[in-house]
Amino acid sequence: MANVSTIEGIRVSADHWIGGARVPSSDMFLDLSPIDLETLAMVARGGKKEADAAVAAARDAFPGWAAMEPEQRSAVLHRVGELVEARVPELAVVETTDNGSLLRSMQRSVMPRVARNFHFFADQLLAMHEDDLEMGEHRSRVEWDPAGVTVVITPWNAPLMLGTWRLAPALAAGNTVVFKPPEWAPLTASMLCDIAREAGMPDGVLNVVQGIGEEAGAALVAHANVDRIAFTGSVETGKLVSAAAAPNLTPVSLELGGKAPFLIFADTDIDAAIVQAVNQYDNAGQVCLAGTRLLVERSIHDEFLDRFLERASGLRQGDPRLPDTDLGPQITKEHFDRVDGFVQRAKEEGAKAVLGGGPSEDLGGLYYRPTLFVDVPPDAEILEREVFGPVLTLQPFDSEEEGVALANATDYGLDAIVYTGDKERAERVSPKLVAGTVWVNCFFVRDLRAPFGGARNSGIGREGGRWSFDFYADVKTVCEAPWQGS
Ligand code: NAD
Repeated sequence: MANVSTIEGIRVSADHWIGGARVPSSDMFLDLSPIDLETLAMVARGGKKEADAAVAAARDAFPGWAAMEPEQRSAVLHRVGELVEARVPELAVVETTDNGSLLRSMQRSVMPRVARNFHFFADQLLAMHEDDLEMGEHRSRVEWDPAGVTVVITPWNAPLMLGTWRLAPALAAGNTVVFKPPEWAPLTASMLCDIAREAGMPDGVLNVVQGIGEEAGAALVAHANVDRIAFTGSVETGKLVSAAAAPNLTPVSLELGGKAPFLIFADTDIDAAIVQAVNQYDNAGQVCLAGTRLLVERSIHDEFLDRFLERASGLRQGDPRLPDTDLGPQITKEHFDRVDGFVQRAKEEGAKAVLGGGPSEDLGGLYYRPTLFVDVPPDAEILEREVFGPVLTLQPFDSEEEGVALANATDYGLDAIVYTGDKERAERVSPKLVAGTVWVNCFFVRDLRAPFGGARNSGIGREGGRWSFDFYADVKTVCEAPWQGS
């Protein structure tokens, strides 16, 4: 019997989706809402058997999808984008209930971005052209062949947006996909399958295997019949994925964790810098790109701190479905305890919490207070490891050189934020920062044509625009000698 859950009147399947059919599992796992810990679904718990079936279905569907005319494939992806646009309200409610993100962010930016992922790569597919290179009498033509079956694995903090950021280019490049959504927020992936079918995507082109990372995820990344792995998640799991893919030499694109610096120079517009600094608590801190290390030039440090605290104290925490809420819950009790562990150890190491520093006693449940640490010892764990919760640190610096050195004092390199009123300074500092993306006087602005990815431990590879096709295609050179008579 079909395993369907109902969330605020919206019916969502909790089965796998393999070869165009719902596939139940006798084994299940519990999916709770972080908002109130209510049970949302008993979700199919896949393993090797389901991974094998989904990879086989994707393999069977590959020749037909890969051979489709680019215009036709592009049209199917645009249709998916349109159907996502039409269902933003339902997708937003289910995602918010499942992962605790703010409903208004889901409605206004995150789900529209899901649609944009499809529209953008549907267009990018048609913009890819064969490069024609001449060397003497020989001509070399560069072609973009579909690679085969792509496995996509994503985390829970923005499951559908992060999933479609990878699977839309994979599909556009002519690959078929097996998607393993995060076990802590698995439901919108199921809704995407219904949308894909309605958009006319052939059976087997998109498959979803639900399950636990160490079971379903591990079976997929070790699979010998997989051609690409696109993984988004923590550094620790990224290393396991890389190791599992190595015996098959399966190419892996890794988008991993971050510990971004937010450099604030005294010449900046301090009002704008404070607003943006407090924004780093967005999604209750569960954002890979968040500039969690605030580095402020000493001459404005005290003013910045006072005004930051004033603004951050006004953040309203609570049910993320309510329009006035700024900060929702942490995703699970396990994650909440992990965040609290970092905070308590920071205190033991001598850091001073001038904001928050513990769970929200009023709200209970999984609500953790926005926290700011000052006077942090230079070798404290809280400066080194990603917390992935609403926890920031503030450190002063005296010179541009020291600011850059502190910014780079990390094993991560996903992104960096710089606030300054001096264009020349921005141009001097940006190249010195080790990061996949540097934002100057802005944050989170994403041009999907630009490459995105992490330096150092924050990842391997770049995606976006044609960089995505570099990964999802088998790039081929055809070198021709001159033709007789031509
Ligand atoms: P995680 O690494 O624990 O899990 C991510 C995904 O991997 C989940 O779907 C999980 O089921 C799966 N998984 C777990 N073990 C696996 C295994 N052995 N083999 C295959 N798959 C496995 O990460 P998380 O806690 O879900 O997410 C938070 C992390 O994701 C943070 O580090 C955050 O910075 C990072 N993140 C990075 C980006 C980016 O774009 N760089 C975006 C969002 C989140």
